[in-house]
Amino acid sequence: MTIQWFPGHMAKARREVTEKLKLIDIVFELVDARIPASSRNPMIDEIIQHKPRLILLNKADMADAAKTKQWLDYYASQGNKAIAINAHEGTGLTKITSASKELLKEKFDRMKAKGIKPRAIRAMIVGIPNVGKSTLINRLAKKNIAKTGNMPGVTKAQQWIKVGKELELLDTPGILWPKFEDQEVGLKLALTGAIKDTLLNLHDISLYAIRFLEKQYPDRLQKRYGINEIPEEIVELFDQIGTFRGCLTSGAMVDYDKTAELVVREVRSEKMGPLTFEVPQDIQAEE
Ligand code: GDP
Repeated sequence: MTIQWFPGHMAKARREVTEKLKLIDIVFELVDARIPASSRNPMIDEIIQHKPRLILLNKADMADAAKTKQWLDYYASQGNKAIAINAHEGTGLTKITSASKELLKEKFDRMKAKGIKPRAIRAMIVGIPNVGKSTLINRLAKKNIAKTGNMPGVTKAQQWIKVGKELELLDTPGILWPKFEDQEVGLKLALTGAIKDTLLNLHDISLYAIRFLEKQYPDRLQKRYGINEIPEEIVELFDQIGTFRGCLTSGAMVDYDKTAELVVREVRSEKMGPLTFEVPQDIQAEE
């Protein structure tokens, strides 16, 4: 599903998240482990304000494990709790409850001290399209969707999903918009499949992918496309890839459309192995 974001949609999305914040103790901010910074909503801090937050680096199975570790350390250094998960397979999910309990310990201790009966932690998932929100909800739900009827402050009945005894999750996630302004962010979103190709030229995306691989994972690039020495000229590199993989026109010339498509498809489908497109230093450099 692709959503065209217009100012009206953004305002509505924001309003919906803000409204639901009243019902919950903690936000699960879902991002793509391959692009943890680029897959965040640009206004997330402003929207969720001081609500406790757990960052979930999803699709960790597709990301470079060493770089995921760098991100986890980075978040910890910033005082944010983050967990790497794979919603698809269900790995890392048990840590969600324990981390939430840890983050909310003081609040729940205070409630207990006031004599308030212990209850489950209430949470909601928030993130841009395609980061895996529905997949995670379905994984956590395991058919445990519980109807709780009307909650004060909301017109529509909210459904809560029971995740064990200690956690309840809103059954609908908060869908927020991705970053638009930055061209590189757009390329990363396209390369990881978060936005449709038509929005950006396939050649630009493949060029970005090739340059990235050349810099960060040259050995994988060489191995996959039978390249002995990476040429200086990017056109030559495309020529070599196209020739090696038989992406040719009827006149036996390299077909750059086909080559570009092949590269993007292979990066996306993990033919290059797990990849991470940004590290914490990148955003620290920007700041
Ligand atoms: P949503 O738009 O945020 O609800 O995203 P979806 O739950 O629809 O997921 C988008 C795509 O990512 C789907 O094809 C999922 O199967 C896939 N996906 C979600 N989580 C993971 C994960 O942890 N690992 C992998 N490999 N794929 C995932």
